[in-house]
Amino acid sequence: MRIYHPIPNEDLLADLRRVAAGAGLTRAHYEAEGRYSPATQAKHFGGWGRALARAGVKPAAPPPPPEPVQRILRWSEGESVRLFRTIRWPAGHVRCPRCEQPEPVRPLPTQQLANSAYGIYACEECAYHFSDLTGTVFQQRSTAMKVWLAVLIMERAGAEQPRLRRARWLGVTTESYARKVMILQGSQLAHALGEAAWAMVGTPGQEAPCSI
Ligand SMILES: [Zn+2]
Repeated sequence: MRIYHPIPNEDLLADLRRVAAGAGLTRAHYEAEGRYSPATQAKHFGGWGRALARAGVKPAAPPPPPEPVQRILRWSEGESVRLFRTIRWPAGHVRCPRCEQPEPVRPLPTQQLANSAYGIYACEECAYHFSDLTGTVFQQRSTAMKVWLAVLIMERAGAEQPRLRRARWLGVTTESYARKVMILQGSQLAHALGEAAWAMVGTPGQEAPCSI
């Protein structure tokens, strides 16, 4: 017959202090080095934060984002759109997505998308009006290009981090982050954009696999 012996509070708290060793403690660090699991601690004291408070241990700040992520987060929206346009129009000129004629396409400077960094054009061949985003996965989405680029870089440089953490770097919910990744996956344009952005902010010599 198995008899249940509750772990004494003092053992649990002492173990938190032992692993923290006078510094802050993250859940992941305790998971790796604690005698008990963070879940056991949390269950015992009514939450991980409360367990730390009882032990007199400070929660440690999560590690900062990897360098490439920090670099892309410093980009302006204007820089991001400029990079996007070089990938969207690799030949250097705008093509009508309907009739695919490179010329003549006339910019419509009086018309603007919500983001004025994108151009709007009229095709003189078929009279179609379109923007830099027409026919891409980014069409009709309010997400800033800088945010799309950040997701592309995070999926490479931060892929080993929990998705919750990547979402926090971006300041969005995990669900919103997951939705953005789904939109980008399978898009050749997004893949090419990720490659181009990585060439500019990635760490040289440290190739990160690309999932998009
Ligand atoms: Zn056309």
